[in-house]
Amino acid sequence: MTLSTQPAIGLQLNEEQETLRRAVRDLCSRFPNSYWRELDAQEGYPDDFVKTLTDAGYLAALIPEEFGGAGLGITEAGIILEEINRSGGNAAACHAQMYIMGTVLRHGSAEQKRRYLPEIASGALRLQAFAVTEPTAGSDTTKIRTMAVRQGDRYVINGQKVWTSRVQHSDLLLLLARTSAQAEEGDKTFGLSTILVDLRQAAPGMIEVRPIHTMMNHETNEVFFHDLEVPVENLIGEEGRGFRYILDGMNAERILIAAECIGDGRFFIERAVQYSSERVVFGSPIGKYQGVQFPIARAYAAIAAADLVRLQAAVLFDAGQKCGAEANLAKLLSSEASWQAANASMDAHGGYGFAKDYDIERKFRETRLYLTAPVANNLILAYLGQHVLGMPRSY
Ligand SMILES: Cc1cc2nc3c(=O)[nH]c(=O)nc-3n(C[C@H](O)[C@H](O)[C@H](O)COP(=O)(O)OP(=O)(O)OC[C@H]3O[C@@H](n4cnc5c(N)ncnc54)[C@H](O)[C@@H]3O)c2cc1C
Repeated sequence: MTLSTQPAIGLQLNEEQETLRRAVRDLCSRFPNSYWRELDAQEGYPDDFVKTLTDAGYLAALIPEEFGGAGLGITEAGIILEEINRSGGNAAACHAQMYIMGTVLRHGSAEQKRRYLPEIASGALRLQAFAVTEPTAGSDTTKIRTMAVRQGDRYVINGQKVWTSRVQHSDLLLLLARTSAQAEEGDKTFGLSTILVDLRQAAPGMIEVRPIHTMMNHETNEVFFHDLEVPVENLIGEEGRGFRYILDGMNAERILIAAECIGDGRFFIERAVQYSSERVVFGSPIGKYQGVQFPIARAYAAIAAADLVRLQAAVLFDAGQKCGAEANLAKLLSSEASWQAANASMDAHGGYGFAKDYDIERKFRETRLYLTAPVANNLILAYLGQHVLGMPRSY
């Protein structure tokens, strides 16, 4: 049974987008759930899957053709990530290779784009780690303390990041660091800068990586910088304006995370429908009982509604229009809908939902992340309250 992924008229996907969806679905079918399950058990990285995806050009979807990418939009990138998660996979292992380069593309110099983008497009260079979050600042990014002090033609970097994902599978890291103290008054976002760190060039001991073991298979780390030297030419854009550059990339990230949640939601619903149609208890398939059927139908409705908002956000983004409200709504609604679908599916599977062989508990753990990261949903609600509804700021 395959549920329709067709949105309402007006936000309908075109033939090329449908072809793309089918092609990604086909690729994912070569990586069955047993593949992801074994990696989950070993906390392994999906090297084969990422290589196959890279070789097919999908991770270069958002890189313009002049730099060797596919020159596609966020709508198409979202379809790719959605299909990975819908198949039972976990796009978080590599999704950032698609969008971190956006900071270089939008704010980098011509030389930086020429140097990095073609190699990122081919997969020869992995830029899939970004270090923003710090233990003491948390969601309050302007309070970060990692310092990059200019000394001649180098920055000398000291400080600590936390939750830096995929750093062990990346060549470059996009770092947000403070290049001057936070202003007492006025623009509190000034003084932060984005710097591209070439992890391969760091001298031994300058970068210390301590893995964090999480409830799902997600390579994430504490990262410590000890007098790390980085050439000044690795600064992206203007010194002090890095917070704006990071904000710029957030709409894209939120829309793509929403797409992954939609994929997760569809996975859960398809599995729940299938299982509850086959499992017979008290003489009937359990899917006949409304106590089982209605939570699945309700989660399906939530996913369908969230999908429309995410497509609306993606279409606006690709048209170069403002989409902050839609991107935030899409992330909020999709992460809640996938969590709703996860619970409905878990319930429908009864005890078997807890058995690893059914993949429900694995995906349940994976999709839970998106209520909290890359931005906690409370912060999205604050954005909606303050920036969309014009209510008073709480922080
Ligand atoms: C697996 C994983 C991978 C991650 N990968 C990366 C990565 O690659 N790079 C990176 O930079 N970061 C990464 N993160 C960090 C992630 O972005 C943060 O965890 C997230 O933004 C929340 O920050 P925090 O954990 O410090 O929570 P806190 O900011 O401490 O928040 C804790 C709780 O308080 C609530 N809260 C805080 N302030 C307010 C407020 N003003 N109003 C209402 N509620 C509030 C939050 O909603 C949350 O529920 C990752 C996190 C995880 C768990």
